[in-house]
Amino acid sequence: MRVLHVAAECAPWAKVGGLADVTGALPAALSAVGVDAALVLPLYREVRERGIEGEPVAGPFPVRLGGRAWPVTLRRATHPEGFPVVLLECDELYDREGIYVDPGTREPFPDDLERFGVLCRGALWAAQVLGRWDLLHAHDAHAAAAVAMLAAGYRHTPLEWTRSVLSLHNAGYQGLHPLAAAATLELPLGDTRPGGPAEFWGRLNLLKAGICAADGLHTVSETYAREIVSGPEFGFGLEGVLRERADRLVGIPNGIDTRAWDPSRDPHLPARYDAADRSGKAECKRAVHRLAGWDESDLSRPLLAVVSRLVDQKGPDLVLEALPALLDSGARLVVLGAGSREYEDAFTRAAASRPDGIWTRIGFDEPLAHRIEAGADVFLMPSRYEPCGLNQMYSMRYGTVPVVRATGGLADTVLEWDPTTGRGTGFRFEAPTSEALLAATARALETYRDPHAWARLVWNGMARDFSWEGAAARYKDWYEGVGRG
Ligand code: ADP
Repeated sequence: MRVLHVAAECAPWAKVGGLADVTGALPAALSAVGVDAALVLPLYREVRERGIEGEPVAGPFPVRLGGRAWPVTLRRATHPEGFPVVLLECDELYDREGIYVDPGTREPFPDDLERFGVLCRGALWAAQVLGRWDLLHAHDAHAAAAVAMLAAGYRHTPLEWTRSVLSLHNAGYQGLHPLAAAATLELPLGDTRPGGPAEFWGRLNLLKAGICAADGLHTVSETYAREIVSGPEFGFGLEGVLRERADRLVGIPNGIDTRAWDPSRDPHLPARYDAADRSGKAECKRAVHRLAGWDESDLSRPLLAVVSRLVDQKGPDLVLEALPALLDSGARLVVLGAGSREYEDAFTRAAASRPDGIWTRIGFDEPLAHRIEAGADVFLMPSRYEPCGLNQMYSMRYGTVPVVRATGGLADTVLEWDPTTGRGTGFRFEAPTSEALLAATARALETYRDPHAWARLVWNGMARDFSWEGAAARYKDWYEGVGRG
């Protein structure tokens, strides 16, 4: 079986969030179970800056969009995990700083539609150049139009029998544009009639168009698959369409890259460790103390951590509200994140006013994310919703105990610690409030004071297997079902 993935991100070359981790790992994991997988990705400036350019294989070819022809060259590169990546080169659209957001304005690029429209059309062209494909697998709103385009008109082409699937990594990002933009993408006009597949409250909704056109739908945890059909809190207005297509919707949780995230081999860490010998973890905690300017000789205070996009979804406001009580309890907090300016400023101010208790680094810093995961004792993830979430899995693997809101993938991967049975891997709370977060963190800190119980809890998390192998086998079964449908 041959599967062509289309996505706007791919780790380690172009990463904004967890989507990149998935597209950077899943194709390789699929190859290991006998699925021949490749990925189409824009050739962004930051990909080039990593020395990745690929070999030209076709083009420049005029990709038509909205009456304009964009010259696109296909370049073939090999991902560090070994799978082929087709890079779409179109410098006018992709040779600039930023993936979704213009770093100058901090707003989405005004030509978003063209950038991702060309990704979708270009991917369908690439698919034809590169042979036959059983499935086109589009990821999220940026690639969703490829599914709608494929359904609307590739008869008598090599894609005639290609089926399509769409993964929803986050139903909160839907690709909304003025309705007239449908013509630019050359989507069928009927799709934009009120109530039509691409129409959403008078606007064009690319994710909805993809949901309606795909042969199969997927999201990244079983709980999130139930949540997004349950109501607007999780479906963001798409719960009705998703409910209509619920028979096509599966939840397959993400794995994690267990090689890149392995405390026994991680090159970013000042010391390495594993479940059998965690002594190196103390050295990692010491290094975080050094970075934060805290006394390195006293590691007794529990160290809490947040590594996150600082956006409402992730609940940074709950952490900020809980902060005085958390610090008063004797814990310290390190924060690594970037996102909305309001939250960035609030964490920066908090660090300035209580430098002995909280240290903040605003920005995206992958090596530092590894060092924090290793150095912390407790990881906070108070997400309002969390389709799958990766950091809770990285945390468990790094012997850092997650405190999570029980939603989506967090609910599926973190089991509440039970001191009577010695089972569980973290602490969970239900309500999206700072009180609930505080109560769960208090349980974590109480357990932290009991070294015997803590060691068991940490061990439980480190022993969990979150590798991609199991997920890939489930994808394969699902692909085969869609292919037969
Ligand atoms: P999402 O995709 O919604 O951002 P996930 O938990 O699924 O959330 O994935 C987040 C990924 O991005 C993780 O790999 C995490 O380590 C990383 N990440 C988030 N913010 C930062 C940051 N400021 N610096 C480094 N890595 C970050």
